[in-house]
Amino acid sequence: MTSIPSNPTRHTPQRTCVACRQVKDKREFIRLVNTPESDVEIDTGGRKAGRGAYLCQTLECWETGLKGNRLEHALRGRFTRDNREQLMKQARDLIKGAN
Ligand SMILES: [Zn+2]
Repeated sequence: MTSIPSNPTRHTPQRTCVACRQVKDKREFIRLVNTPESDVEIDTGGRKAGRGAYLCQTLECWETGLKGNRLEHALRGRFTRDNREQLMKQARDLIKGAN
């Protein structure tokens, strides 16, 4: 990063949602991580090791992300059907809890 930040008042890391491509503060997203030892998981703490991707806290983005291959592409991994279902279920709980 050598460029001068265009908005110096904000220094929270910015991330892009893999579903809707919106750029927001990192903490406004839910992080997914492709852990080396297991399947793709939701990383609520935001600091698990592995390749990560971000989705908004909206079910639309989770459905879009999990339906296509965008997340697989972003995470460089494969989802099993079970994995997908589990993630969707967890996301529903998380999103419900957040609102
Ligand atoms: Zn989104």
